[in-house]
Amino acid sequence: MDCLFCKIVNGEIPSSKVYEDDTVLAFNDINPEAPVHILLIPKTHITSMAEINGENSIVVAHIFEVAAQIAREKGFADGFRVVSNCGDSAGQTVKHLHFHLMAGRDFGWPAG
Ligand code: 5GP
Ligand code: ZN
Repeated sequence: MDCLFCKIVNGEIPSSKVYEDDTVLAFNDINPEAPVHILLIPKTHITSMAEINGENSIVVAHIFEVAAQIAREKGFADGFRVVSNCGDSAGQTVKHLHFHLMAGRDFGWPAG
């Protein structure tokens, strides 16, 4: 499958890794929108949040555990944002489920 993030998982495309285990990979976004901008992805291909179901949601729960762990370990647990863009109208450019973990600046709300 011609998927950028699957290629990052299998090492075909290099990434700046932050965390890795059997099911989850976290790496720095190549075009950061905040001083901390990490992408968390399942190693298995899930296209977007719209594809989450009872069969695959355990990895999503694990991604959120990892996000909280990274926030604590990197010292920004008091202020961060997690975002997943789902579909073209929400600005999803890579069609492999990912969560943006951002910190290190103030974030406006509602997001544009
Ligand atoms: P989306 O727009 O789908 O919500 O987020 C995709 C994210 O992937 C963007 O923030 C973009 O900067 C990042 N990205 C795209 N290509 C690469 C890449 O080759 N390496 C890394 N580390 N990030 C990428
Ligand atoms: Zn993929």
